[in-house]
Amino acid sequence: MSLTALRTLAVHNPATTEVIAEVPDHTPAEAIAAVDAAAAAFRGWAATSPRARAEILRRTYELIVADVDRLAGLITAENGKSDADARAEVAYAAEFFRWFSEEAVRSDGDYAVAPAGGVRNVVTHRPVGVAALVTPWNFPAAMATRKIAPALAAGCTVVLKPAAETPLTALAIGELLTEAGVPDGVVTVVPTSTPADVVTAWLTDDRVRKISFTGSTGVGRHLLHQAADRVLNASMELGGNAPFIVTADADLDAAVAGAMIAKFRNAGQACTAANRFLVHAEVAEEFVARIGALVEDLEVAPLISPRAVDGVAALVAEAVAAGARITHTGTVPAGGWRHPAVVLTDVQPQMRISREEIFGPVVAVQTWTEESEMLTAANDTEFGLAAYVYAGRLQDALRIAESLEAGMVGVNRGIVSDPSAPFGGVKQSGLGREGARDGIREFTETQYFSVDWS
Ligand code: NAD
Repeated sequence: MSLTALRTLAVHNPATTEVIAEVPDHTPAEAIAAVDAAAAAFRGWAATSPRARAEILRRTYELIVADVDRLAGLITAENGKSDADARAEVAYAAEFFRWFSEEAVRSDGDYAVAPAGGVRNVVTHRPVGVAALVTPWNFPAAMATRKIAPALAAGCTVVLKPAAETPLTALAIGELLTEAGVPDGVVTVVPTSTPADVVTAWLTDDRVRKISFTGSTGVGRHLLHQAADRVLNASMELGGNAPFIVTADADLDAAVAGAMIAKFRNAGQACTAANRFLVHAEVAEEFVARIGALVEDLEVAPLISPRAVDGVAALVAEAVAAGARITHTGTVPAGGWRHPAVVLTDVQPQMRISREEIFGPVVAVQTWTEESEMLTAANDTEFGLAAYVYAGRLQDALRIAESLEAGMVGVNRGIVSDPSAPFGGVKQSGLGREGARDGIREFTETQYFSVDWS
């Protein structure tokens, strides 16, 4: 459904800094009109057969795949990421519709004989209701589809607030959902320049029964406080501080190739981005030389905003002032909001660059010799989203992986995202999981019937 708006919001291209579009800039009152529509559509959508809902999701998958050129173009234009990264994102985003079209028809329940006999427990899972979805700018397509697809599969209706920096992709996906046959009011995309006001209006509306948020831990914490006032069902996909561990006997070619993906996808602006490289002292020099050679040839995509560039530059400058060394630097073309790729060595665990999400193209290397000390360092963070381990022997890799306080561990792999796997974090990286079978459960609540069988 499309809403009318009195104001507009300018969208910039980070590669040129130019304004490329104006989109509706919704007020809280307009955003509530989207909830009116979602609430009105809920009963009908929840009552639509799982097969019919699944087929609409499947059509959406096909429409997105067929429209990859346009969608990738929109993502690159508003987010700045490379064409290759944008195409990869469209493919990943589409997969959530394919996966959840398959899950929509597998809504299982449970049946049990109560221990005392006689009574039977019949358990069902039903859609939680109208869901408010809030997404970040770094994956404008995938963060939206990772929520919309399971919500619709479960029978929920949704209102989605994309990041103000990247509303174009979400609006385009909203149109494709309509084309695929999603009824009016089931999905409404609500861009706004006043996110706190719009989301507060939603979270204080009794008809909204769910908040699913992806973004920074700070904003997630704030929304959890707001959700607590109404004991609202909340799923949180928050920030990360991923360790990337390399043991002395790791295959260095594979580790460097994995590191390039884990670090430089989206110019480092990923919640799963490798943030702290913990490399065994015996191979650190070789690892740095090999990744450094690649970095010197690397021209990374722009960052999302001038603030983002300043933030990365400040982390690097502070680390250097405290004793870290820049060993390699990439190139940056003129124009746009850019920070070159850099490799930093002699990084210490207490530096801010080790404690916070860098969200930029910086390979920050620490070294270790004792596994137990390395594991303590790897887990010494309030975050627990992704982690990566490269080790020569699988049993070492798995032992290390099991000791990591992270929701997802790439074992001899530099990427963990997969629609068929449960994506999410522990500690302050979040609550709940997206994708896999778990993703649909985030949008259901359990009801059970106690049945007198006598
Ligand atoms: P952000 O928290 O600033 O914004 C995320 C969303 O929240 C945006 O839509 C924004 O408009 C909205 N928002 C901002 N302030 C708000 C408020 N007071 N009330 C309600 N909504 C508000 O995050 P960002 O800068 O857009 O994205 C980067 C962050 O997202 C990083 O921390 C990254 O790790 C995290 N992230 C996490 C995952 C994950 O799956 N765990 C995925 C992608 C990004």
